[in-house]
Amino acid sequence: MLGISLREAAAAFRLGQLTPTELCRKCLAFIRETSFLNAYITVTEDVALKQAAEADLRFDQGKPLGVLDGIPFAIKDNFSTKNIETTCASQMLKGYIPPYNATVVQRLLDQGAVLMGKTNLDEFAMGSGSTDSIFGPVKNPWSYSKQFREKRKACFPDSNESSDWVITGGSSGGSAASVSAGTCYVALGSDTGGSTRNPACHCGIVGLKPTYGLVSRHGLIPLVNSMDVPGILARCVDDAATVLGVIAGHDPQDATTIQDHILPFTLPDVIDLSKLCVGIPKEYHAPGLSSEILSIWTKAADMMEKAGAKVVEVSMPHTRYSIVCYHVLCTAEVASNMARFDGLEYGHRADIKDSTEAMYSATRRGGFNDVVRGRILSGNFFLLKQNYEKYFLKAQKVRRLIADDFVNAFKSGVDILLTPTTLGDAAPYLDFIQEDNRTRSAQEDVFTQCANMAGVPAITVPAGLSSRGLPLGLQFIGQAFCEQQLLSVAKWFEKQTNFCPLVLHKTHDNGHIDKRQSKSASSL
Ligand code: GLN
Repeated sequence: MLGISLREAAAAFRLGQLTPTELCRKCLAFIRETSFLNAYITVTEDVALKQAAEADLRFDQGKPLGVLDGIPFAIKDNFSTKNIETTCASQMLKGYIPPYNATVVQRLLDQGAVLMGKTNLDEFAMGSGSTDSIFGPVKNPWSYSKQFREKRKACFPDSNESSDWVITGGSSGGSAASVSAGTCYVALGSDTGGSTRNPACHCGIVGLKPTYGLVSRHGLIPLVNSMDVPGILARCVDDAATVLGVIAGHDPQDATTIQDHILPFTLPDVIDLSKLCVGIPKEYHAPGLSSEILSIWTKAADMMEKAGAKVVEVSMPHTRYSIVCYHVLCTAEVASNMARFDGLEYGHRADIKDSTEAMYSATRRGGFNDVVRGRILSGNFFLLKQNYEKYFLKAQKVRRLIADDFVNAFKSGVDILLTPTTLGDAAPYLDFIQEDNRTRSAQEDVFTQCANMAGVPAITVPAGLSSRGLPLGLQFIGQAFCEQQLLSVAKWFEKQTNFCPLVLHKTHDNGHIDKRQSKSASSL
């Protein structure tokens, strides 16, 4: 049932073939059956059933609120949800119940969408595996797909059932897993350096990072204010476009949002590529790029050319500085953002009464993991008076050069860039955690971070399966506020690949999930 798109589900509601409560109950059952994935931190069962019953009534009266009425969705646990615990997967916020909804959450609820729960992430969204959470790592649903199970010996020669699973990517891994496993139609994540696109790619779904300023961040617990945007994880481009139309637009609570009136993003079924110029950034042929990704990237460019697009090589010479530059800017903003967690206002407080200083210090030592504390330390170092110019200001200047690379590429006549999303398919968990958090981010985010530095929109679309049976994706990067074009091209591409999302069918009596493809997934 979840194999259908969001619009089809909405149509089934209207025609009385399905009720929101029936769909909600199915999703809740899927959530229970796949609880071993660890995708959800909180399942909001009572809230969901109540909202679904209200949607039932509206459909009975022939008065649905909009295209999202009755549609199950999930939210990354770094968005504030009124009266629902919001933890950021951190000891620091465990037990924190926000008194308000993030603007994006409120906009989805105002349309009648049904909240299934809050999804797992790397603590405070710092990571790229969804492995650094106090609730434990998220498992990639594709680890249990027929294709991967058949080929997993290649990945895990000494296979043992408990450890032979691959990561979701991150940091919005819970959101990606929740959509990929079919427990909801769409989920929101956040994207600061790639956290929506990376897990979407590894989980075989669509991941959209909108232009900075198109979607409100009010109520998104900040990581790097100058780069954070809410991201959309969906099973197809049309669904992502529908949700973007609902959440985009001015918010008086977020001064960085644009004032313009946003029209719904309606994507044409047929798109003519003959006037499109596609840029292939040569610097994205990065060390470590898997031959499989290189091959689908080349095939995709050829396909676009055959369809009439002009495909040209472009140079974005500052790309190679992005990882280091991101590290300086990210940690500097983290250091100032995390200062608010002092044990007084929110969540965790250490039980130390000797002095305020001692209480602060114990609260922060006990509340944050090593990754967060490490970034606070680095950030404060870069912001020291004697280092500010050498590191922080310099990184700001390099960021400008990285952004200018995009401006220049688009000025030269290119409409859209085509790049890989990741270097390869999802890593086995035990391999992934051999590296430290910073090294992992440097590897995972190499193709995604630049778009955050420049503020431009980007989307990952599934493109095929690796030889190990795991999803591969490609990324399109567009010009600021040109989401309509970006999404249309992504939809065209999605049609060509005919990628089949994972479909969960039933649970065996022994508790093992049997996930099969509805038809065999095709690659480019
Ligand atoms: N992996 C990057 C980091 O850890 C990006 C995180 C994100 O986009 N939230 O900072």
